[in-house]
Amino acid sequence: MSSASVRSWPVVFLLLAGWAAFSQAADPPHRALIVDGQNNHGCWPKTTPMMRKYLEDTGLFRVDVVTHAPKGEDPSFQPAFADYDVVVSNFGHGAAEWPAATKAAFETYVRDGGGFVAVHAADNSFPKWPAYNEMIGLGGWGGRNESSGPYVYFDETGKLVRDTAAGPGGSHGPQHEFPIVVRDGEHAVTKGMPASWMHAKDELYDSLRGPAENMAVLATAWSPKTKRHEPMIMTIDYGKGRVFHTPMGHETYSMECVGFITAFQRGCEWAATGKVTQELPKDFPGEAASSRPFAR
Ligand code: ZN
Repeated sequence: MSSASVRSWPVVFLLLAGWAAFSQAADPPHRALIVDGQNNHGCWPKTTPMMRKYLEDTGLFRVDVVTHAPKGEDPSFQPAFADYDVVVSNFGHGAAEWPAATKAAFETYVRDGGGFVAVHAADNSFPKWPAYNEMIGLGGWGGRNESSGPYVYFDETGKLVRDTAAGPGGSHGPQHEFPIVVRDGEHAVTKGMPASWMHAKDELYDSLRGPAENMAVLATAWSPKTKRHEPMIMTIDYGKGRVFHTPMGHETYSMECVGFITAFQRGCEWAATGKVTQELPKDFPGEAASSRPFAR
């Protein structure tokens, strides 16, 4: 062996180590699909890449995006749901109905064990699609009312209330920062979160209504408008599938909240696998102040 080839060994090792790190990074274990294209929130072309980055940052997800036509119904909207571990909806209020075959494929995908994540106005979509409303548990606007299901909230004694009173579903007051109160700190999504943490400026959705079957409320926020503790983090079982639903995330600045990011990343992993392997980040917000580092 020549002295030149001996000297080249460290280079070979570095290349091998680099390749190993690269191939690991390039091959995350789970596949996520974000669907978007029609949302009354004009920021959606920005919030889809934000959510994509949050998922990729975990190292757990390879992410694809399928975008629906901007107006009207879109017969070509036929995502291959079954290829994914979790589907995230960034649709919003007034979204056109999906093609019947796409709805059927989506129902089968979740019922057979697929993960689904509904963020903010995704719970406005499809008021007339019964299976979708079972998946999200609670929804708002689009004519939702007592026929959609009960209002669900916590009262001052910490009791979960299912209120069948007549009235519209979906409302919010002016945007503000507000505390998120963890109601179940043993769930994989909320484990380790402070009992109360300050969320960045957002719309605080209230008075959502829906079937709310097989639904757990993991966290709430007190609404100055309704004087009720409104659901902010929910999980729903739909067949063998797992659904994570948060009404947080109105604007880009709302989604820059480390609390939102963490809940979203963990919620997606839980929906995809039933487990959460992610630690709570060091800059997770506490009770007094929100956390929205500019760099993230
Ligand atoms: Zn909004």
